[in-house]
Amino acid sequence: MQGPNPLSDEQLAANFADIAPPLTSDAALLEANKCLFCYDAPCTIACPTHIDVPAFIKKIATGNLRGSARVILDANPFGHSCARACPVEVLCEGACVLNDRDEQPIKIALLQRHATDYVLEHKVTLFAPGAQTGKRVAIVGAGPAGLACARDLRRRGHAVTVFEAQSQPGGLNTYGIAEYKLKSNVAIAEVQDILDLGVELKLGVTVSSIDDLLARYE
Ligand code: SF4
Repeated sequence: MQGPNPLSDEQLAANFADIAPPLTSDAALLEANKCLFCYDAPCTIACPTHIDVPAFIKKIATGNLRGSARVILDANPFGHSCARACPVEVLCEGACVLNDRDEQPIKIALLQRHATDYVLEHKVTLFAPGAQTGKRVAIVGAGPAGLACARDLRRRGHAVTVFEAQSQPGGLNTYGIAEYKLKSNVAIAEVQDILDLGVELKLGVTVSSIDDLLARYE
């Protein structure tokens, strides 16, 4: 019996290519300048992390990609992966006022990707750890929730150790999203930004006793 034909490298690359390719610089500038920069913007209200969408789009429109990424990542440490994987049609883009004028909504996700890709590709450091408080915090699980918590605690100056049973950090972003939406190397690079704040990560460790953690951490 003949087995299934394996796909060639070219076919695999085509099948898993970006489903939403990035904007060029000119396209991003054009798109950003279509935004109405609404007061009480419904796109921001619809975003689960309440990113100030008109503020980050305005910064793209003025060529300030670093500032734009700072607005995004300050509100949401996973702004890179959310730009690729969020169901924006029922969130920010679904709430864009342009829908009510029978126009296409602003391409918020692609603009967010444009700004966050810039800081990832240029290795721009946006945040720094806060002054040391002397407090030690343990976090179980290096998925998006645990790492977002770790980042905010480091920005407030606490020492943070994250325990993860898997061999790679990132949780759902690294292991559970289709490659044509989010490549695992992007998910890992995003995690590295958080680790660079001085977060200690212990991989391949299953926490079996909360008492042990309570004895060593706050
Ligand atoms: S609702 Fe649409 S037009 Fe208004 S600020 Fe948000 S993206 Fe811009």
